[in-house]
Amino acid sequence: MINQITTNLYLLIFLLGAYNLSGQPDTSVSFYSVKIGVENMAEVQIEWNFTLQDSMLYMAPGANQFPNRWGKFIHNLKVQNTSGQPVIVESLSEGRWKVHAPLYQKIKLSYTVKINHEDHKWSGGVDGVAYVREWGVFCAGRSLFIMNGEPENIEVDFDIPNDWKISCSWLNDDQEDAFKVDNNNALVNAMFFVGTHEELRIKREGFELVFALGGPSIIAQKEAFVNLAEGVLDYYVNLFGGIPIPPPGQSLKKAMVIMNSGNVTDGEVLGNDISILLEPDGDEMAQMISRFIFAHEFFHLWNGKTFIPEQDNVEWFKEGFTNYYTLKSLYKVGVLNEKSYFDMLGQFFYTRYNNDDGVGQLTMTDGTLKHDHWGLIYAGGLFVAIIQDIQIREASKNQKSIDDLMRQFYKKYRGTDERYTIDDLQNALSELNGENQTDFFQSYINGVQALPFIEYLNRIGITAKMENEQLLIIWPEQIPPFQREIISGLLGS
Ligand SMILES: [Zn+2]
Repeated sequence: MINQITTNLYLLIFLLGAYNLSGQPDTSVSFYSVKIGVENMAEVQIEWNFTLQDSMLYMAPGANQFPNRWGKFIHNLKVQNTSGQPVIVESLSEGRWKVHAPLYQKIKLSYTVKINHEDHKWSGGVDGVAYVREWGVFCAGRSLFIMNGEPENIEVDFDIPNDWKISCSWLNDDQEDAFKVDNNNALVNAMFFVGTHEELRIKREGFELVFALGGPSIIAQKEAFVNLAEGVLDYYVNLFGGIPIPPPGQSLKKAMVIMNSGNVTDGEVLGNDISILLEPDGDEMAQMISRFIFAHEFFHLWNGKTFIPEQDNVEWFKEGFTNYYTLKSLYKVGVLNEKSYFDMLGQFFYTRYNNDDGVGQLTMTDGTLKHDHWGLIYAGGLFVAIIQDIQIREASKNQKSIDDLMRQFYKKYRGTDERYTIDDLQNALSELNGENQTDFFQSYINGVQALPFIEYLNRIGITAKMENEQLLIIWPEQIPPFQREIISGLLGS
């Protein structure tokens, strides 16, 4: 979108800025220009001006199914110095190249990224990779950018058709198509969409949540997404007592949710960005799942990015408690009602838990089991949250709950480098219960005993029975007032 004069001006500023007053080269500047046109949206042209810090050019980890990793999609790589002399580049495997030029020389590199990633299989789905739609182009930074060293000042500039917009979570100063990026990590672990899609922005206390909506079937639901985004954001901000605040040196002022239509309903997270694909004629369940993905991933900006664990032995807390609050937030915004909330617990989560062969065999403190034993960790952790919540509400006459744990952790760890441990969790839960939770942890968390979820449902006045491998919730005619209060608490009201 920027015109040639501005491009040249930027180049000039870059060239001037590359030397400081003492005449020493400034190696900290890395300037990318990303050009996408309507004629061929599947070819992204990149021009990259930087000062060579070491001889190795590299791309982000990932794309392990190809010998050349992300490099598989890079074409026409040309390298020259600023006097226009070609520079020799040797192509190595695994998305790396070796530059044969003196260090601190200013380099101009250009290449094309062919966006045909959808023709290949991706273990996490194409939603975290790159794809083209009629209305624009989606890219994860890792699929596009070649890096060198660790520059301090990175800028990404877009050259796109005039009627297109850019949706990304990098921050811009004045120019709407030029973005400052914190470091290489923030460059590759980010996702953007450029095109004629629609955008909706919600701001709270210096934090901005941006939804990019692409495709007629998704834009038709815009109103519903506004309600969802506002309702979920407000519920989380209220719950914790503030917006997400990462450790020092990291930025979390803006989060992106990119939603487009796709062949499957799927979601992925990179950095502060959430990407969701939604089947255009997906049934009610697909609609629910897309909303669940958003609310779950969004919760991680607090539980995961504001308070961060020291080890991976608390994945059951990170994922399971996040699932619990995801359900509560969806109840809050009306995506779920009381019946569908408990049906999700019984028919979806309990089934996944009950059918996981790790239950009764493996401890949920082994975070490496996260993907192979979803039921044990994601659903098991959810049942830990519910059981603990019921216990604490019973013990405190419904005055306390695990909401207090969330608030305490937020208050203690936000904006710090301090990490929490499994002992911190056990201590905080013991205090809220007014009773030591060592036995509970020994039996169900460190140990391998199955969680007594049905027993706890009985305690709040609900019965349940297994039928066709699903847990059917049976509501009694009447629920005594105190149990009714606890159920309201579980729903998040
Ligand atoms: Zn998660």
